[in-house]
Amino acid sequence: MSQRPRLLYILAPSYSGSTLLTYLLAQHPAIATIGELKATRMGNIDAYRCSCGELIRECDFWSELTQRARDAGLEFSVDAFGTVYGDGGRFVDRIVRALVRGPLFETLRAAALGVLPERTTRIAAVTRQNLVLSRLVCDMQGGRVFLDGSKDSARLLHYQRSGEWDIKVIHLQRDGRGVTNSYVKHDRVDYDGAIAYWMKAVTELQRMRARLDDDMVYDLLYEDLCRDPEKELAAICDWLGIDELDHARSFDAESQHVLGNRMRLDNVSEIRLDEKWRKLLSPDKLAAFEDRAGELNRSLGYTAA
Ligand SMILES: [Zn+2]
Repeated sequence: MSQRPRLLYILAPSYSGSTLLTYLLAQHPAIATIGELKATRMGNIDAYRCSCGELIRECDFWSELTQRARDAGLEFSVDAFGTVYGDGGRFVDRIVRALVRGPLFETLRAAALGVLPERTTRIAAVTRQNLVLSRLVCDMQGGRVFLDGSKDSARLLHYQRSGEWDIKVIHLQRDGRGVTNSYVKHDRVDYDGAIAYWMKAVTELQRMRARLDDDMVYDLLYEDLCRDPEKELAAICDWLGIDELDHARSFDAESQHVLGNRMRLDNVSEIRLDEKWRKLLSPDKLAAFEDRAGELNRSLGYTAA
Protein backbone atom coordinates (compact mmCIF):
# COMPACT_ATOMS: atom_id res chain seq x y z
CA MET A 1 0.00 0.00 0.00
CA SER A 2 1.11 3.50 -0.77
CA GLN A 3 2.22 5.67 2.12
CA ARG A 4 2.01 8.82 0.05
CA PRO A 5 -0.36 11.54 1.26
CA ARG A 6 -3.81 11.43 -0.30
CA LEU A 7 -4.88 14.24 -2.60
CA LEU A 8 -8.36 14.75 -4.00
CA TYR A 9 -8.34 17.19 -6.91
CA ILE A 10 -11.33 18.89 -8.52
CA LEU A 11 -10.83 19.22 -12.27
CA ALA A 12 -13.48 21.53 -13.74
CA PRO A 13 -14.14 24.62 -15.84
CA SER A 14 -14.87 27.84 -13.94
CA TYR A 15 -18.52 28.35 -12.92
CA SER A 16 -19.23 24.64 -12.93
CA GLY A 17 -20.03 24.10 -9.26
CA SER A 18 -16.58 23.37 -7.86
CA THR A 19 -17.09 25.77 -4.94
CA LEU A 20 -20.35 24.06 -3.98
CA LEU A 21 -18.70 20.66 -4.23
CA THR A 22 -15.77 21.89 -2.12
CA TYR A 23 -18.07 23.09 0.67
CA LEU A 24 -20.01 19.85 0.69
CA LEU A 25 -16.90 17.70 0.83
CA ALA A 26 -15.21 19.97 3.38
CA GLN A 27 -17.84 18.92 5.93
CA HIS A 28 -16.44 15.42 5.94
CA PRO A 29 -14.17 14.78 8.93
CA ALA A 30 -11.74 12.80 6.77
CA ILE A 31 -11.33 15.64 4.27
CA ALA A 32 -9.18 18.73 4.87
CA THR A 33 -9.26 21.73 2.56
CA ILE A 34 -8.77 25.46 2.11
CA GLY A 35 -10.56 25.40 -1.27
CA GLU A 36 -8.18 26.38 -4.04
CA LEU A 37 -4.59 25.83 -2.92
CA LYS A 38 -3.34 27.93 -5.84
CA ALA A 39 -4.91 30.92 -4.03
CA THR A 40 -4.96 33.19 -7.07
CA ARG A 41 -7.24 36.12 -7.83
CA MET A 42 -7.62 37.16 -4.20
CA GLY A 43 -7.51 40.87 -5.04
CA ASN A 44 -6.88 43.29 -2.20
CA ILE A 45 -5.67 41.00 0.55
CA ASP A 46 -6.42 43.53 3.30
CA ALA A 47 -10.12 43.38 2.36
CA TYR A 48 -10.22 39.66 1.59
CA ARG A 49 -12.57 37.62 3.73
CA CYS A 50 -12.14 34.00 4.65
CA SER A 51 -15.35 31.96 4.24
CA CYS A 52 -15.66 32.00 8.05
CA GLY A 53 -16.51 35.72 7.72
CA GLU A 54 -13.30 37.12 9.22
CA LEU A 55 -10.83 39.18 7.25
CA ILE A 56 -8.19 36.69 6.22
CA ARG A 57 -5.53 38.68 8.11
CA GLU A 58 -7.60 38.35 11.28
CA CYS A 59 -8.76 34.75 10.95
CA ASP A 60 -7.22 32.48 13.60
CA PHE A 61 -7.02 29.56 11.22
CA TRP A 62 -4.84 31.51 8.78
CA SER A 63 -2.69 32.94 11.57
CA GLU A 64 -1.97 29.49 12.89
CA LEU A 65 -1.34 28.04 9.43
CA THR A 66 1.08 30.89 8.71
CA GLN A 67 2.93 30.22 11.95
CA ARG A 68 3.08 26.47 11.34
CA ALA A 69 4.27 27.02 7.76
CA ARG A 70 7.09 29.27 8.97
CA ASP A 71 8.00 26.78 11.69
CA ALA A 72 8.23 24.17 8.92
CA GLY A 73 10.72 26.43 7.11
CA LEU A 74 8.42 27.76 4.40
CA GLU A 75 8.24 31.31 3.17
CA PHE A 76 4.53 31.83 3.48
CA SER A 77 1.99 34.55 4.07
CA VAL A 78 -1.66 34.98 3.09
CA ASP A 79 -0.64 37.38 0.32
CA ALA A 80 2.16 35.10 -0.93
CA PHE A 81 1.21 31.45 -0.82
CA GLY A 82 4.06 30.37 -3.10
CA THR A 83 1.86 27.58 -4.43
CA VAL A 84 1.52 28.64 -8.08
CA TYR A 85 3.66 26.82 -10.63
CA GLY A 86 3.63 29.51 -13.32
CA ASP A 87 5.84 32.17 -11.75
CA GLY A 88 8.93 31.60 -13.88
CA GLY A 89 10.20 33.17 -17.08
CA ARG A 90 7.76 33.77 -19.86
CA PHE A 91 9.15 31.23 -22.31
CA VAL A 92 9.29 28.44 -19.81
CA ASP A 93 5.87 29.30 -18.46
CA ARG A 94 4.48 28.93 -21.92
CA ILE A 95 5.92 25.44 -22.09
CA VAL A 96 4.82 24.45 -18.63
CA ARG A 97 1.36 25.94 -18.71
CA ALA A 98 0.45 24.88 -22.22
CA LEU A 99 -1.65 21.84 -21.72
CA VAL A 100 -1.35 18.35 -22.98
CA ARG A 101 -1.07 18.44 -26.73
CA GLY A 102 -0.16 14.90 -27.56
CA PRO A 103 2.97 12.75 -27.10
CA LEU A 104 5.27 14.82 -29.33
CA PHE A 105 4.52 18.02 -27.47
CA GLU A 106 4.98 16.22 -24.16
CA THR A 107 8.40 15.00 -25.29
CA LEU A 108 9.40 18.49 -26.39
CA ARG A 109 8.25 19.91 -23.10
CA ALA A 110 10.15 17.31 -21.11
CA ALA A 111 13.28 18.06 -23.17
CA ALA A 112 12.89 21.80 -22.73
CA LEU A 113 12.45 21.41 -18.99
CA GLY A 114 15.43 19.07 -18.83
CA VAL A 115 17.80 21.72 -20.15
CA LEU A 116 16.46 24.32 -17.78
CA PRO A 117 17.62 23.13 -14.37
CA GLU A 118 16.65 26.42 -12.73
CA ARG A 119 13.08 25.88 -13.78
CA THR A 120 13.15 22.28 -12.60
CA THR A 121 14.37 23.44 -9.22
CA ARG A 122 11.62 26.04 -9.13
CA ILE A 123 8.96 23.40 -9.89
CA ALA A 124 10.32 21.14 -7.16
CA ALA A 125 10.21 24.03 -4.68
CA VAL A 126 6.58 24.81 -5.55
CA THR A 127 5.69 21.14 -5.21
CA ARG A 128 7.31 21.08 -1.78
CA GLN A 129 5.36 24.21 -0.78
CA ASN A 130 2.10 22.57 -1.86
CA LEU A 131 3.04 19.33 -0.16
CA VAL A 132 3.97 20.87 3.18
CA LEU A 133 0.96 23.22 3.24
CA SER A 134 -1.45 20.39 2.42
CA ARG A 135 0.07 18.32 5.22
CA LEU A 136 -0.24 21.19 7.70
CA VAL A 137 -3.89 21.79 6.76
CA CYS A 138 -4.59 18.07 7.24
CA ASP A 139 -2.89 18.24 10.67
CA MET A 140 -4.91 21.30 11.70
CA GLN A 141 -8.27 20.01 10.45
CA GLY A 142 -7.71 16.38 11.34
CA GLY A 143 -8.37 15.14 7.81
CA ARG A 144 -6.46 12.43 5.98
CA VAL A 145 -7.49 13.37 2.43
CA PHE A 146 -6.44 16.82 1.22
CA LEU A 147 -8.90 18.43 -1.19
CA ASP A 148 -7.55 20.93 -3.72
CA GLY A 149 -10.34 22.63 -5.69
CA SER A 150 -7.95 24.52 -7.98
CA LYS A 151 -9.65 23.06 -11.09
CA ASP A 152 -6.98 23.54 -13.77
CA SER A 153 -5.22 20.79 -15.67
CA ALA A 154 -1.69 22.19 -15.52
CA ARG A 155 -1.58 22.03 -11.73
CA LEU A 156 -2.86 18.46 -11.71
CA LEU A 157 -0.23 17.54 -14.27
CA HIS A 158 2.50 18.92 -11.99
CA TYR A 159 1.08 17.01 -9.03
CA GLN A 160 0.95 13.83 -11.05
CA ARG A 161 4.47 14.21 -12.44
CA SER A 162 5.94 14.86 -9.00
CA GLY A 163 4.87 11.40 -7.82
CA GLU A 164 4.48 12.81 -4.30
CA TRP A 165 0.76 12.18 -3.86
CA ASP A 166 -1.73 9.36 -4.07
CA ILE A 167 -4.13 11.26 -6.33
CA LYS A 168 -7.85 10.95 -6.98
CA VAL A 169 -9.70 13.33 -9.28
CA ILE A 170 -13.29 14.49 -9.46
CA HIS A 171 -13.89 15.56 -13.04
CA LEU A 172 -16.79 17.99 -12.74
CA GLN A 173 -18.69 19.36 -15.70
CA ARG A 174 -21.78 21.50 -16.10
CA ASP A 175 -24.07 22.16 -19.04
CA GLY A 176 -22.12 24.49 -21.34
CA ARG A 177 -25.13 26.76 -21.72
CA GLY A 178 -25.01 27.42 -17.99
CA VAL A 179 -21.24 27.96 -17.97
CA THR A 180 -21.26 30.31 -20.96
CA ASN A 181 -24.10 32.30 -19.41
CA SER A 182 -21.94 32.72 -16.29
CA TYR A 183 -18.91 33.81 -18.32
CA VAL A 184 -20.97 36.57 -19.92
CA LYS A 185 -22.34 37.64 -16.55
CA HIS A 186 -19.12 37.60 -14.52
CA ASP A 187 -16.28 38.01 -17.00
CA ARG A 188 -17.83 40.51 -19.39
CA VAL A 189 -17.17 38.63 -22.58
CA ASP A 190 -19.59 38.52 -25.49
CA TYR A 191 -21.48 35.30 -26.08
CA ASP A 192 -19.33 34.13 -29.00
CA GLY A 193 -16.25 34.62 -26.86
CA ALA A 194 -17.88 32.72 -24.02
CA ILE A 195 -18.63 29.75 -26.29
CA ALA A 196 -15.03 29.68 -27.55
CA TYR A 197 -13.65 29.94 -24.03
CA TRP A 198 -15.85 27.14 -22.73
CA MET A 199 -14.99 24.84 -25.63
CA LYS A 200 -11.29 25.39 -25.08
CA ALA A 201 -11.59 24.76 -21.35
CA VAL A 202 -13.61 21.56 -21.75
CA THR A 203 -11.33 20.23 -24.46
CA GLU A 204 -8.25 20.79 -22.28
CA LEU A 205 -9.91 19.10 -19.33
CA GLN A 206 -10.97 16.16 -21.47
CA ARG A 207 -7.38 15.73 -22.66
CA MET A 208 -6.20 15.71 -19.07
CA ARG A 209 -9.00 13.31 -18.16
CA ALA A 210 -7.82 10.94 -20.90
CA ARG A 211 -4.36 10.78 -19.31
CA LEU A 212 -5.74 9.49 -16.03
CA ASP A 213 -6.51 5.87 -15.15
CA ASP A 214 -10.25 5.34 -14.89
CA ASP A 215 -10.09 4.22 -11.26
CA MET A 216 -8.46 7.58 -10.37
CA VAL A 217 -11.41 9.56 -11.66
CA TYR A 218 -14.99 10.22 -10.58
CA ASP A 219 -16.96 11.82 -13.39
CA LEU A 220 -19.61 14.14 -12.01
CA LEU A 221 -22.18 16.45 -13.54
CA TYR A 222 -23.09 19.58 -11.58
CA GLU A 223 -26.78 19.03 -12.31
CA ASP A 224 -26.68 15.48 -10.89
CA LEU A 225 -24.95 16.77 -7.76
CA CYS A 226 -27.67 19.40 -7.23
CA ARG A 227 -30.56 17.06 -7.97
CA ASP A 228 -29.44 14.34 -5.59
CA PRO A 229 -26.48 15.45 -3.47
CA GLU A 230 -26.92 12.61 -0.97
CA LYS A 231 -26.62 9.98 -3.65
CA GLU A 232 -23.64 11.60 -5.39
CA LEU A 233 -21.75 12.31 -2.17
CA ALA A 234 -22.35 8.78 -0.89
CA ALA A 235 -20.95 7.43 -4.15
CA ILE A 236 -17.93 9.75 -3.93
CA CYS A 237 -17.23 8.75 -0.31
CA ASP A 238 -17.53 5.08 -1.25
CA TRP A 239 -15.12 5.59 -4.15
CA LEU A 240 -12.70 7.40 -1.78
CA GLY A 241 -13.02 4.64 0.81
CA ILE A 242 -14.28 6.98 3.56
CA ASP A 243 -17.49 6.89 5.60
CA GLU A 244 -20.65 8.43 4.23
CA LEU A 245 -21.33 12.09 4.94
CA ASP A 246 -24.14 12.86 7.39
CA HIS A 247 -25.35 16.23 6.11
CA ALA A 248 -25.16 16.07 2.37
CA ARG A 249 -28.02 18.44 1.60
CA SER A 250 -26.60 21.65 3.02
CA PHE A 251 -23.41 23.20 4.33
CA ASP A 252 -22.25 25.94 6.63
CA ALA A 253 -19.60 28.08 4.95
CA GLU A 254 -18.89 29.97 8.16
CA SER A 255 -17.62 26.87 9.92
CA GLN A 256 -14.95 26.50 7.23
CA HIS A 257 -11.88 28.43 6.12
CA VAL A 258 -12.13 28.23 2.38
CA LEU A 259 -10.72 30.41 -0.40
CA GLY A 260 -12.29 30.67 -3.82
CA ASN A 261 -14.61 32.77 -5.85
CA ARG A 262 -16.93 35.42 -4.46
CA MET A 263 -19.98 33.18 -4.71
CA ARG A 264 -18.86 31.52 -1.52
CA LEU A 265 -19.96 34.57 0.45
CA ASP A 266 -23.43 34.76 -1.05
CA ASN A 267 -24.87 32.97 1.93
CA VAL A 268 -26.20 30.14 -0.13
CA SER A 269 -26.07 27.11 2.10
CA GLU A 270 -28.92 25.16 0.56
CA ILE A 271 -28.21 23.39 -2.67
CA ARG A 272 -30.18 24.84 -5.54
CA LEU A 273 -29.75 23.82 -9.12
CA ASP A 274 -28.87 27.01 -11.03
CA GLU A 275 -30.42 26.79 -14.47
CA LYS A 276 -31.06 30.50 -14.97
CA TRP A 277 -29.57 30.12 -18.44
CA ARG A 278 -32.85 28.54 -19.54
CA LYS A 279 -34.52 31.93 -19.09
CA LEU A 280 -31.59 34.23 -19.81
CA LEU A 281 -30.19 32.83 -23.05
CA SER A 282 -32.10 34.10 -26.08
CA PRO A 283 -33.14 31.71 -28.88
CA ASP A 284 -30.36 33.25 -31.01
CA LYS A 285 -27.75 32.51 -28.39
CA LEU A 286 -29.03 28.98 -27.87
CA ALA A 287 -28.88 28.42 -31.61
CA ALA A 288 -25.31 29.78 -31.75
CA PHE A 289 -24.34 27.49 -28.89
CA GLU A 290 -25.96 24.48 -30.54
CA ASP A 291 -24.25 25.24 -33.83
CA ARG A 292 -20.74 25.47 -32.44
CA ALA A 293 -20.74 23.60 -29.14
CA GLY A 294 -23.80 21.34 -29.21
CA GLU A 295 -21.81 18.24 -30.06
CA LEU A 296 -19.25 18.85 -27.32
CA ASN A 297 -22.04 19.50 -24.81
CA ARG A 298 -23.76 16.25 -25.79
CA SER A 299 -20.48 14.39 -25.34
CA LEU A 300 -20.66 15.43 -21.68
CA GLY A 301 -24.15 13.97 -21.42
CA TYR A 302 -26.38 16.98 -22.11
CA THR A 303 -29.26 16.93 -24.55
CA ALA A 304 -30.29 19.78 -26.83
CA ALA A 305 -33.66 20.44 -25.17
ZN1 LIG B 1 -11.40 31.75 8.54
